[in-house]
Amino acid sequence: MKKLFSVITLAAVLLSCLVPAAAFAADEAETEEATLVDDDWYAAVPYESWDQFEPVETDQSWYDVYKMPGDVYAICCNGQWELDICYLILGGDQALLLDTGLGLGDLKSLVDTLTDMPVSVLVSHSHYDHVGNAHQFDDVWCYDSEACVDTLTNGIEHDVFAYELEEGMIARELPRDIDLDTYAIPGTEVTRTVKDGEVIDLGGRTLEVLWTPGHTGDSIMVIDEANGILFTGDTYYPDDLYAWSDDSDVTVYADSMCKAADRIADMDLDWIYPGHNEIVTGTDVIEEVAGDLEQIVSGEKTDYVIGEEDYRYYDFPNDIRIVTLDEDPA
Ligand SMILES: [Zn+2]
Repeated sequence: MKKLFSVITLAAVLLSCLVPAAAFAADEAETEEATLVDDDWYAAVPYESWDQFEPVETDQSWYDVYKMPGDVYAICCNGQWELDICYLILGGDQALLLDTGLGLGDLKSLVDTLTDMPVSVLVSHSHYDHVGNAHQFDDVWCYDSEACVDTLTNGIEHDVFAYELEEGMIARELPRDIDLDTYAIPGTEVTRTVKDGEVIDLGGRTLEVLWTPGHTGDSIMVIDEANGILFTGDTYYPDDLYAWSDDSDVTVYADSMCKAADRIADMDLDWIYPGHNEIVTGTDVIEEVAGDLEQIVSGEKTDYVIGEEDYRYYDFPNDIRIVTLDEDPA
């Protein structure tokens, strides 16, 4: 998901000036103007950082597609505010499509133009903006979690994500006939579940599943060590990190980021391919976020502001912002 208004940052700066002690009470903050969507969000799309990658011409203007280092296509759903990124990972005899976006485009027909290999879908977690097009595919995998299987099987009702379809959230012509007032994500059969540490073999290319609950209980990362890539889903992407939803747990999130940092410590990874926004060079940020989350969980991090939806916004000196419910972690 995307950036919150910078008014939150401004409020944090003002407050830290006004209050001499290191900590200040969050409910003194007056940051109610903070809104989820910057009206101008589409102006910078695609972000400049994509210029370093090779664009791929396709017949679908809904998506921006790039050929990435490591034999991967990044399929950017740039017509909608979430800026979801799906990754088509090419193996020797099989391809893996990691995540499927919100489902507004025709991802299957796009993927069919990119590879002749059989394609299996793996979702990084069960949020609506990652499972939307899964129903178009015959082979759909997720982490071995009842919640994830249930969500994929049952689909997701319109009301859960209706705000994502409101005016201002969609900036390109819809690629197919969709009634935005009723659009819901169809259910689909889950054909395989994957476990923590499981190795997926695409024929001459192996990927390791790393279970990283916290953003949701069913969140995974995928490690492609040979190609130097860490796929992080929503457990990390360059923007505000969300640990406020019903299925989030900031304490578990901290443990997962520490676990991920430990797992990749001896690997020589070049890139993070995240679930939203843009590619990240290097993986040092995983350890940084782990440290930030630990500060929240331990209570060491006491300064935050309350913004939209009464969430806590924790700003860290390393430019990372973590959003949680307004309650102390268990
Ligand atoms: Zn998510």
